[in-house]
Amino acid sequence: TIGMLCLDQNGDMAGACTTSGLAYKMHGRVGDSPIIGSGLFVDNEVGGAVATGLGEEIMKNVSSFLIVELMRQGKSPQESCEIAMQRLISKNPSYNDFQVAFLALNKKGEVGSFCIHQGFTFMKYAKTINENISSKSLL
Ligand code: ASP
Repeated sequence: TIGMLCLDQNGDMAGACTTSGLAYKMHGRVGDSPIIGSGLFVDNEVGGAVATGLGEEIMKNVSSFLIVELMRQGKSPQESCEIAMQRLISKNPSYNDFQVAFLALNKKGEVGSFCIHQGFTFMKYAKTINENISSKSLL
């Protein structure tokens, strides 16, 4: 999955994601990426979130929507990703066996990310500077 979150100079937000789905997926399977609220959610009043990894788990928890709602309640993007991950792993004790990663951006331009297994990285581009950032991880 490629997920993108943008905040423009007027303070407006947008997001997008694309995916080929999981390897060896069942024919006709629909993952989380095209399901608004699961693989992607943006509210221009609050912020946006994108997800990658095992889509079934992301969909069951409507994780991107949850992250944006947590930011709406005043949590930082980082806190929101971590709380949403706690929710996800609390519902599935086999979380050691799959990867999920979240990325979030709020209206202030603050970024957060969290993944189960280390190795998820993302790019932050702001004011002509490109940063490659390693996500915090659970394991
Ligand atoms: N989330 C995608 C899916 O489950 C897979 C991915 O992250 O590439 O379809």
